[in-house]
Amino acid sequence: MLRHLSGASVIALCLATAAAAQEAHDHAGEESVTLYRVFVGDHEAPRVTALDLADPANRWTFGTKGQAKLYSEADGAVIVAAQSFDDQVNFIASGVSLHDHGEHQDIEIADPEAIAVVLEGPRPFHVLGHDGKLAINFDAGGYAEILDEHALSEGRVEAVRFPQAHAHHGVVVPMGDIRISSVASEEPVEAGTLPPRVGAQVFAPDGEPAGELATCSGLHGEAFSGAYLVFGCDEGVLTVIEEGDAPVFRMLPYPADFPKGETTGTLLGVSAVQMFLGNHGKTGLVVIDPAGEPHMRRIELPFRRVDFVLDPARPAHGYVLTEDGTLHRVNMLNAEIEASARVTEHYSMDGDWNLPRPRLAMAGDEIVMTDPNAGLVRRIATADMSELGTIPVEGKPYNIAVAGGTGVVE
Ligand code: ZN
Repeated sequence: MLRHLSGASVIALCLATAAAAQEAHDHAGEESVTLYRVFVGDHEAPRVTALDLADPANRWTFGTKGQAKLYSEADGAVIVAAQSFDDQVNFIASGVSLHDHGEHQDIEIADPEAIAVVLEGPRPFHVLGHDGKLAINFDAGGYAEILDEHALSEGRVEAVRFPQAHAHHGVVVPMGDIRISSVASEEPVEAGTLPPRVGAQVFAPDGEPAGELATCSGLHGEAFSGAYLVFGCDEGVLTVIEEGDAPVFRMLPYPADFPKGETTGTLLGVSAVQMFLGNHGKTGLVVIDPAGEPHMRRIELPFRRVDFVLDPARPAHGYVLTEDGTLHRVNMLNAEIEASARVTEHYSMDGDWNLPRPRLAMAGDEIVMTDPNAGLVRRIATADMSELGTIPVEGKPYNIAVAGGTGVVE
């Protein structure tokens, strides 16, 4: 509990500092501006639509090769559009960049613009930004491309290839001078299928092993919070922490009272408190404290989960949409659903994972949610989960990412 309290006081301090900075800048005559730019990938058309949340008539369209999953990277300066079914990754300069100056941050605003260089390769899937690097796993190629985020934020696509022993649906985590990669089984698999993951291991940037394999069967899902990196596994959650010069792996098994056979495969890391929110099966969420007991607390949802996000402004809060069309606010400190509101028609989780269903992202005090069947982006207030408005988007709006924030325009 002490950790949670200290986390909360850190937040209070940050707010106080921000308020002081705001005041200082008001005195200096500088203008504080908030801009959230929303990027929406269509479910069918090879297209990404960008629009300004507060002024959606400011709108741009970018062509892709296929359906794109979107990631806001390099502090929101770049939107990564990974097209797993079409073997291509496009990059869009978001036009919104925030530069931290300690006591305040600057915001620079321009039109979003496609970066001319695209990456082509077999089945790009998981994208992970960490330590100023961006790793894109090419599942069917047996490698990841590692890009420098700063170069990318200046429009330069400088990829360095990290080779894996076997092509698999994997992930590579750049950590200083080392790489932590998922590792696939050596067992032969049928043509056209990829081998299962068996664990994670430390490698040198050239792909040479630099540590022992840590078991994590079916490894899927990864996130950072505080000093920890975690992976979801069949056995539990694998935690990784840097102690001395080498990462230390430790398995946190699922507690005995959790439903058997259900696992964690999607994880989100809280930014201001050392804590994670993951799924546990289709109808459960799990709050994970990697350092303190209890390590895992489960929250049972009334229906199957469609998507979930964390609220960076309120680190105790996450939001999960269930298939009945209800959005729930999760309080992670007491592992409870503390409020629920109906926000859309129902979207059954029966059928393929990639059917058009809503996706969530955060934009300051709002949850922005695509509603593919309604052709809308819905704006929902975090305070009471009421609908603030809707933004029509052509086609079937599906994947979503947000760039932006509040800064001083110099
Ligand atoms: Zn995956």
